[in-house]
Amino acid sequence: MHGRLLASYAALDETSHGRRHSEKSPAYRGEFQRDRDRIIHSTAFRRLEYKTQVFVNHEGDLFRTRLTHSIEVAQISRTIARSLDLNEDLSETIGLAHDLGHTPFGHAGQDILNECMHDYGGFEHNLQSLRVVDELEEKYAQFPGLNLTFESREGILKHCAIKNAKLLGDVGERFINKHQPSLEAQLTNLADEIAYNSHDVDDGLRSGLISLQQLREVEFFNRLYEEVDEKYADLPDRRKIYEIVRRLISYQVIDLIETSKARIESVKPETIEDVRHHSEAIISYSDAMREQNLVIKRFLRENLYMHYRVRRMSAKSARMIKELFSAFMQDVLLLPPEYQERVKQQRSEAGESGQARIIADYIAGMTDRYAMAEHGKLFDPKQLT
Ligand code: MG
Repeated sequence: MHGRLLASYAALDETSHGRRHSEKSPAYRGEFQRDRDRIIHSTAFRRLEYKTQVFVNHEGDLFRTRLTHSIEVAQISRTIARSLDLNEDLSETIGLAHDLGHTPFGHAGQDILNECMHDYGGFEHNLQSLRVVDELEEKYAQFPGLNLTFESREGILKHCAIKNAKLLGDVGERFINKHQPSLEAQLTNLADEIAYNSHDVDDGLRSGLISLQQLREVEFFNRLYEEVDEKYADLPDRRKIYEIVRRLISYQVIDLIETSKARIESVKPETIEDVRHHSEAIISYSDAMREQNLVIKRFLRENLYMHYRVRRMSAKSARMIKELFSAFMQDVLLLPPEYQERVKQQRSEAGESGQARIIADYIAGMTDRYAMAEHGKLFDPKQLT
């Protein structure tokens, strides 16, 4: 598959816990390659293009969307996986799939939908990503969802409350038993963090919502700035920003690889089951880098995510989602016919919670612009439907 040997504790086709519906192995591809290809062909994946990361899609063409974010996560994951002789295909798959269940309008969307679903079991985008690949995609004749391997599903479900874990069968068990996922899942989880910490700094600077001056007040960033400035004093700021951001990514990735290498050497897992039964995650940053990461996160929260212009968009998005949700709850006949069908089915099985879940599926599947259009159609008297 790779033309190179994977570590004995990597996720391997031979030790995979398999798919929920058994299928013949693919010709010319590994099991995790097939998973990745199914994700790329899915509808939910294409929709990521028009879902917000921090900036709503129409605010500019230069900023990250969920799609480019997911591609960056996959790319960083592959580098880390390859350096540690782990399964690059699996890490790539998890990276591409990890945000499939994300609502429109980024975290504001997730938080408000969770609030709307409070009495009906809540809404969690991680769990929704799993629901997308397990049930909601309708592409194959023989099964609902994408029928991915256990290992891909295990990686997609990063966190999960115990009460939900109990309903999930095999992939929920590790949260109850306090076990770990594969190293590929562990590293992709951190690659996600590396990606958004770095690209949010980049987008923040280029949008003008944060300034280089502000950034330099943080010691870690200032060190990066000075490193760049010393070498390229005459470079315009616009290009200095890129040099800073690429160092930001490199330092985190290299720290993660080196720390994890050392930890693997001391834990000495022999198989993926040893990894799963270890008392804690093996893939990790050094303590110093973990500290820096907290500083970066705090900086972004205070200066970008709480920026009044970002907050205005978030508040507006939250209002739209809330209004959509209650309009559909009050009158399901406003839903497109196929969703009315699903509501009917779910109501007979799970009552009002069943209805709410289908409405949450519908809303979570919307892109930013689709949600705005749908809101206009329902609430703007001048718009025809
Ligand atoms: Mg992400």
